[in-house]
Amino acid sequence: MLKITNLHANVEDTPILKGINLEINPGEVHAIMGPNGSGKSTLSNVLMGNPVYEVTEGTIIFNGKDITEEPVDNRAKEGMFLAFQYPESIPGVTIVNMLKTALTNIENTDYSTLELRLKVADAMKDLGLSPDFVDRYLNEGFSGGEKKRNEILQMKMLKPKIAILDEIDSGLDVDALKVVGENVTAMKNDNLGLLLITHYQRLLEYIKADFIHVMMKGKIVKSGNMDLMERIDTEGYDWIK
Ligand code: ADP
Ligand code: MG
Repeated sequence: MLKITNLHANVEDTPILKGINLEINPGEVHAIMGPNGSGKSTLSNVLMGNPVYEVTEGTIIFNGKDITEEPVDNRAKEGMFLAFQYPESIPGVTIVNMLKTALTNIENTDYSTLELRLKVADAMKDLGLSPDFVDRYLNEGFSGGEKKRNEILQMKMLKPKIAILDEIDSGLDVDALKVVGENVTAMKNDNLGLLLITHYQRLLEYIKADFIHVMMKGKIVKSGNMDLMERIDTEGYDWIK
């Protein structure tokens, strides 16, 4: 479903990604771990099509289509979703309006605000968010936990085919991590591909990954299963060269 081949990308003329190869099939959960600064967030941004990052070599195939040069909104329409490591605040735009715009674009259905409120109610309950949460401006003054729950709320509503969750566990206390983990696990199905980007192994206690990849200096240097994660947990990254 998602095939990344020899992907190289620059930020402001500095090479960050140096030949990433990764294939994610429907129903698979892949985790990318790695030290800070290894290029994990760069990869998620490049996959989603953030124009700050320049692809210099390689291809991204999604649903059989080469999307390497496609703009962000086309990728979203195709069913790609990114939960940001650092979600940005957008003053003046409420969550309910943002969801309305996104769903109108992706599903080609024009929901009324009332319909949308009803549609989002169950998802909010699952995430332990109160109904008036959707009237707040996107990420304005949100706590770490609220930001991450909001990212998962978007994912629940947009029902992507591939979801990239960039450090969805960062800044979460144990309770919030449990809520996020359970909600993501509940969304797992045979059609969804998941790419979990995480610095710590604790997220993977809640969301089991089929494949673990270690990224260092812009490359995937090692791939394995949950055993690899456990070794990283006890020995860190130094033994991987
Ligand atoms: P990770 O998510 O693994 O911690 P990042 O992808 O955030 O790593 O960063 C990898 C490198 O790319 C870092 O040296 C970082 O400073 C640089 N980088 C990433 N995004 C930008 C950006 N928008 N502008 C400038 N430098 C960036
Ligand atoms: Mg990062």
